[in-house]
Amino acid sequence: MKCSQGENFSKGELQRFGNIELSPSAGILNYGQGLFEGLKAYRKHDGNILLFRPEENAMRLKMGAERMCMPSPSVEQFVEAVKATVLANERWIPPSGKGSLYIRPLLMGSGAVLGLAPAPEYTFLIYVSPVGNYFKEGLAPINLVVETEMHRATPGGTGGVKTVGNYAAVLKAQSAAKAKGYSDVLYLDSVQKRYLEEVSSCNVFIVKGNLIVTPAIKGTILPGITRKSIIDVALSQGFEVEERLVSVDELLDADEVFCTGTAVVVSPVGSITRQGKRVTYGNNGVGLVSQQLYSALTSLQMGLTEDRMGWIVELK
Ligand code: PMP
Repeated sequence: MKCSQGENFSKGELQRFGNIELSPSAGILNYGQGLFEGLKAYRKHDGNILLFRPEENAMRLKMGAERMCMPSPSVEQFVEAVKATVLANERWIPPSGKGSLYIRPLLMGSGAVLGLAPAPEYTFLIYVSPVGNYFKEGLAPINLVVETEMHRATPGGTGGVKTVGNYAAVLKAQSAAKAKGYSDVLYLDSVQKRYLEEVSSCNVFIVKGNLIVTPAIKGTILPGITRKSIIDVALSQGFEVEERLVSVDELLDADEVFCTGTAVVVSPVGSITRQGKRVTYGNNGVGLVSQQLYSALTSLQMGLTEDRMGWIVELK
């Protein structure tokens, strides 16, 4: 789908996957004017195809487009385009329980612009790929390292939207962490360097007894759709949930820590290393709360339990 600045996107079309042509001075290539989304299609045991809360991705893209001076497709256009793309790629959706189809919508300033300004034209496209687990550990615990020098977002910046540049900012810290054997990086706030923010591509939660705590969304953390869903699932299962500033010191006496995201779903954290000191959780096993929330969410997403929240969109 394409449109000019100040206009609305017109109806899109399906195209075979392949390279796209861009001007060397396209807004996305020079000024990072791009946003993406990520969602998954699951195959249900009866063969149906299920999407998980696609309108939430559409709304987050719209919010991001506003921050990045871009037009965006309407919620209806977004959801219709996702459905059409998934149906056209049905053969790539793994059998029930064997993985999912990852869907990557991408909105970009595709028009040529030399001086710093929003691009004159925009392209919205969607591509897909079958996926298994994001972390090679699967539901086995991941090991994080607290990053104290580099930050993924600063107040007033673009950390709260899913713009491409946020991911460029994490590459160095993430690669260094992986080279040392960690699964990923846990970021702190860039002002006081004391409060938990999130991981490179997922949100973080800590568990203490019946209480589940996660950093509040205040512009520097991506408002994850899995995060929001896990909060509702946890509340419905009788947990107490707090969204607030979470000091890095609270990691020391947490019972469990887990991460959430479309790609990672719910990933239990086995250890967190901060300034050379390693704290372990759940006897290096999978914490019971993490496991319970993982099961509740995945069985909903795969159509194994009743969708009381109205989150599932069936495609057939
Ligand atoms: N934080 C960041 C930085 C992310 O890239 C993602 C993945 N989209 C998330 C959190 C989790 O968001 P969601 O649950 O919507 O996938």
